Parts: sequence; structure tokens; C-alpha cells
Amino acid sequence: MGDSSALTESKHDAPDVGELTPPDRTLMGPGPSDVHPRVLKAMSTPLVGHLDPSFVEIMDEVQELLRYTFRTDNRWTIPVSGTGSASMEAAIGNLVEPGDTMLVPTNGYFGGRMKSMAERAGGDVVEVDAPWGEPLDPVDVERAFDEHQPDVFGFVHAETSTGVLQPNVPELTDIAHDHDAFVIADTVTSLGGVELRVDEWGIDAAYSGPQKCLSCPPGASPLTLSDRAMDKVLDRDEQPRSWYLDLSLLEGYWGDDRSYHHTAPITNVYAIREALRLVAEEGIEQRWARHREVAGDLKAGLQEMGLEMNAPDEYWLPSLNAVRVPDGIDDGAVIDYLLEEYDLEIASGLGDLEGDIWRIGCMGYSARPKNVEYVLAALEDALSEQGF
Ligand SMILES: *Cc1c(COP(=O)(O)O)cnc(C)c1O
Repeated sequence: MGDSSALTESKHDAPDVGELTPPDRTLMGPGPSDVHPRVLKAMSTPLVGHLDPSFVEIMDEVQELLRYTFRTDNRWTIPVSGTGSASMEAAIGNLVEPGDTMLVPTNGYFGGRMKSMAERAGGDVVEVDAPWGEPLDPVDVERAFDEHQPDVFGFVHAETSTGVLQPNVPELTDIAHDHDAFVIADTVTSLGGVELRVDEWGIDAAYSGPQKCLSCPPGASPLTLSDRAMDKVLDRDEQPRSWYLDLSLLEGYWGDDRSYHHTAPITNVYAIREALRLVAEEGIEQRWARHREVAGDLKAGLQEMGLEMNAPDEYWLPSLNAVRVPDGIDDGAVIDYLLEEYDLEIASGLGDLEGDIWRIGCMGYSARPKNVEYVLAALEDALSEQGF
């Protein structure tokens, strides 16, 4: 390695890192969204132990609040330690056993992630196709079931990569149940933002994340499973490949025993408790209505500006507004301008829609008239800079 003594020496000096002063952004991208001040305050509360009797009470409260928000009576409703992808992998990695077949959608980025996770779980993956920017058609789902007889069917309720809301959820779950399959729903960008009824719609397992419509920092991610789904998990011949996300082990901590499995992220549990308390105070249906109204104003404002939404009105997703980039406009330059001039975050398109759309989130605490006015004014300025 030659003479590295200078390098070695400098490595041992204390780094001169200043106080934490991140910029004061307005977060209107695909997540994280702006965090409610009450949630930030809850996060500065001193810790108790993860087995402290007072924390056990907090765990019960979080589970109650999650059931309310998911619209479910599922006993098996917990915050998984980790981001939305951890909750996603807990659902897929436990429900898909080696040799099982999982049916996944191709109409967005997150169906692709479902596929990777199902394969790693030892499952065989089959696909039901729809273009990016369109929902699944129940006719295609039925056909895929007849052809492949999958054991598990996954779909994305709110596709954050395309701004499309999957309609007809009960129709999809009926098809799956007629074929004795389990349904896993990705509700990361719908929970607490758009109508979602886990029990009424027959969803067997739903996972979500806290940093989208719940306006909570990432770290503890909602998951719910029906008793029927949990029976399949507890009946597995082979252990799930992940120890950390093995739900039969997590049962010891979140179930009746309350015995040690891993140290819960206490601060994140405080945070999600407060975020969910805000949901309960507002009322879940009122919260869905607020997202529709406020994002509706955003959509109307964008259209008045001469911009076009990517999703047709029937599939429009209030929590994630995908807007088409007009011809001749540099999408990246607009994003950079908003960040530099307005401290405002929106995002570009992904995958098949890269360069074609902007993604403007309208989630939780960010779904306020004030934010919508700010985005519209900033975007108008950014576009006129480019001669639009
Ligand atoms: C954000 C997101 C995820 C992944 O969540 P992370 O918290 O980033 O791990 C999964 N599915 C959808 C639809 C998402 O929007």
C-alpha cells in the first residue's frame, strides 16, 4: 500500500464535524413527507426499556391504533422494526414458502420488488401484466389464476412510482379466495391517506410504512395479518429465511409473552404512536377526505397551469400525483430549481416513466392547502424559467 502513514494519522484525528443543520425543506415527494411537530416532540421523549411495563402498555396502544387505521380486527397487527421494505419482506418472506407460487404485478416499481423478495423466499414467481401507469384488470388477474394457480397474490394498492390507485380491490381478493390463495397488499402509500379497508376488502396481509401518509419518520412499519394468514405462517414446514423477520419469533415479543426477541426501536414506536394518535383525532374517514380535497386542489392547479396528470381520473392517487413533463422541458432542471430556490422536494419518474413524469406527494402533514399553494407557485416559476 506504499507509505500510508499520513493517511493513518489523519484517520485518528477527531473529525471536525459541525452541529446538525439540515436545510428546512418542504417535502412533497414520494416520501418521506413533512413530519408533524407533535411527532418530532414525541421523539425527544426519554427512553424506557423495551420490556418495561410502561412500554408494554405503549405497544398495546400502538397495536390498537394500527387496527383502527387499517380498519381491521386482526390480532396480528404490529409495527415491524425497519422501513416499509422490512414490513414488506416480513409479509412475503413468511407467507411464501419454498415451492409456493406467488403472482405479482408488473405495472410499477414495487411489483418488481415483490418479485425479488418472493424469489429470495424460495417461491416461484408468475406475473400479471399491465402497463406502468395503469391498474390491474380483474379479468387479467382471473386469467393468471386459472393459468398458474398461485398460492399467494400480491398487488400494490397505491403505486408510488406511477401515481395509480388500484380500484376494485374486493374483486381481486374474491378471485384469489375462490382459488384458495392468500392476498398481500402493499399499502405503503395508501395507509392513512386513501380509503383502505383491510377486513371488509378481504385482504389477508397488508404492509405499510410510516413516512408516507402517516407523516412519521421511517423506522417502525405497520403490518397486519389475518388469523388465517398467520395459521399458514405458523404451520410452515421450513423456517423463514430471515431470523429477524420471522413472525413466529416476533409473536413472542408482540404476542402474549412479551419476551425479548430484539430491542424495539423505542423512539420510532413513540413516533408512530403519536402519528397514529393524530389519525384517530382527525378520524380516518375525514383524513381520507382531506387527502382527496387538498390533492384535488393540487391536481386542479396543475391542470390550470396546462399540465397533464399521468393517471386517468378513475385511478388518480391523491397521495402521489404523477404529472407529465411537457415537451421541451428538462424535468431534472425543474427539480433542482425547486430544491435550490424553494427548499422544496418533488421527485422524478422511475423505471418505465423516467423522464416522463414528476411525482408530487400530498401525504399526511404535507397534505395542507398551504403546501399546495407553495408547490403550485414554485412550479409555475420553475416552468416559466424554462419558457413554458
Ligand atoms: C416507499 C414504498 C415502499 C418501500 O418503503 P421503504 O420505507 O422505502 O422501505 C414499498 N412500497 C411502496 C408502494 C412504497 O411507496
